[in-house]
Amino acid sequence: MRVKPKFDKKSQTDFYQVLRTRVHAYFDSNQISPYANSAFYVKVGTGFLLWLLTYVLILLSKPSPEIAFVLIMLHVLLGLFLAFNLAHDANHHAVSASARVNRIFSYMFDLLGVNSYLWRLEHSTHHTFANVPEVDNSIADYAIIRFSWHAQRKPWHQFQALYVPLLYGFSTLNFIFVRDYVFFFTNYKYSPLLGKKTPVDEAIKMVIWKMLFYFFAFVLPLYFLPIPLWQGILMYFFAYFLQGMIMGFVFQCGHLLPETHYPLSNEDGKVREDWASCILRTSFEYGRKQKWLQWLSGGLNIHASHHLFPRVCHVHYPQLAEIIAETAKEFDLPYQRVENLQQAVGAHLKFLWILGHQDKSSNSLEGVLT
Ligand SMILES: [Zn+2]
Repeated sequence: MRVKPKFDKKSQTDFYQVLRTRVHAYFDSNQISPYANSAFYVKVGTGFLLWLLTYVLILLSKPSPEIAFVLIMLHVLLGLFLAFNLAHDANHHAVSASARVNRIFSYMFDLLGVNSYLWRLEHSTHHTFANVPEVDNSIADYAIIRFSWHAQRKPWHQFQALYVPLLYGFSTLNFIFVRDYVFFFTNYKYSPLLGKKTPVDEAIKMVIWKMLFYFFAFVLPLYFLPIPLWQGILMYFFAYFLQGMIMGFVFQCGHLLPETHYPLSNEDGKVREDWASCILRTSFEYGRKQKWLQWLSGGLNIHASHHLFPRVCHVHYPQLAEIIAETAKEFDLPYQRVENLQQAVGAHLKFLWILGHQDKSSNSLEGVLT
């Protein structure tokens, strides 16, 4: 089992304390709940109905190949929309004050073919230890990709800016067909269950959900669609490939840009930094003015707000971001912003290129704080 480091309390400043007080004061003085509001339910409800509608049309409308392709694309991308906007928030207990409501909505992940139990385990580690080498799976050393200065650079990494986006295309297919099984049933070094007893009930639930998903998501539509099987499989592959690519960029642009930081733990197993300031140094906000991006991505583009307040529903992130940026300035901490999505994608690709061509960071701060 990988040992999780601790954040050194001695280096803790008042930053997070002050920030929390201000954020609570914002909700109290405006008499707003930090959970979902009516705009959230209208958005997510509409998305869910459209997701169901596209599914029914795939099954029953006997579409032409062109229309079938459009319906499959829409259905799979609406699935991603629900993962970003509903499943992510629900698995963070951010939709409602009621644990039961969050629990019910958290199964949206399972409806999309991803095991919610494992997702919560892995994602909570990422939230606490964002960009901490050997702990955060988002920057895991898979040899084929170099996501941090602390992974060994290999000759093929100089081309990674070209092939990593293509690998992102397989990310959701990996969740659906490979990863959950490997995490549950093998001693894979990146499994959040490594060194722990596999919970049999969760493993059984996972297999049942997966079988139901494969049947409803692939077997039934491919049976009913009046197109050759190979065409149907290709259409689904293309739709999931695009879904995976979008997911990869949306998440990685939140942490892996050239200015990012990798908090290291020292020999006594402690990260000599305050947790909240680590989050500010490792997280980015991009495309704040692109309201459509915030709406579609469930606020994942306002990433520091999400990491610092994961139990607040994403509809409140823009207001939180202002409070965080102001407080960070007072404490002489960075609030890292990128103008728009295009620039964030470009910066992420540039960073992949730099990691593929340089052994060490040229950022003078990198390593000093560890
Ligand atoms: Zn999260």
